[in-house]
Amino acid sequence: MPTIGVLAVQGDVREHLAALAAVGVQAIRVRRPEEIERIDGLVIPGGESTVMDKLVRSFGLFEPLRARLAAGLPAYGSCAGMIMLADRIADGTTDQQTLGGFDILVRRNAFGRQVDSFETDLRIRELGPEPVRAVFIRAPWVQEWGSAVEVLAAVERDGAAYPVAIRQGALLATSFHPEVTGDHRFHSYFAAMVRAA
Ligand code: GLN
Repeated sequence: MPTIGVLAVQGDVREHLAALAAVGVQAIRVRRPEEIERIDGLVIPGGESTVMDKLVRSFGLFEPLRARLAAGLPAYGSCAGMIMLADRIADGTTDQQTLGGFDILVRRNAFGRQVDSFETDLRIRELGPEPVRAVFIRAPWVQEWGSAVEVLAAVERDGAAYPVAIRQGALLATSFHPEVTGDHRFHSYFAAMVRAA
């Protein structure tokens, strides 16, 4: 059984641990560098990416996580987790860093103030015919992306389509929060990516 770590410095860690347990993988909290060595995959939860970044650095997790991601560790980021996995950020704070991996420019809080939070149904071919209920909470979108990035779902705003679910090799990210809906298909899809890696 693969062990998947949930980065547990800030954010909705418990929801991801429960979703992973529900799809039959061993899920552990990652808060210390030595825990990074034990995992076969990593989930970065939703939360606040600026705070998560500061804590990751002060807990001594930044370099070991970057190293394992660079070596191909499968990772899934939801919302703030997508920001943490992006190579480039628009509207980040001046000293905000990311772990990187995805060849994307991510825009934080992209959906704007009035519609800070909303829900919609998305069809995602890889997850089957039933639509996914996508919950967006002060969510980012993908502004620019490289050719290696596969777009699994996009949302339209002002005539343009912005990716909100993406995959690049062993990396997966969503702007929304499948961990809060009780639909575990994303976690199951990620668990399959970890098993295949
Ligand atoms: N707006 C948050 C950020 O910039 C992300 C929100 C979320 O994870 N729900 O990190």
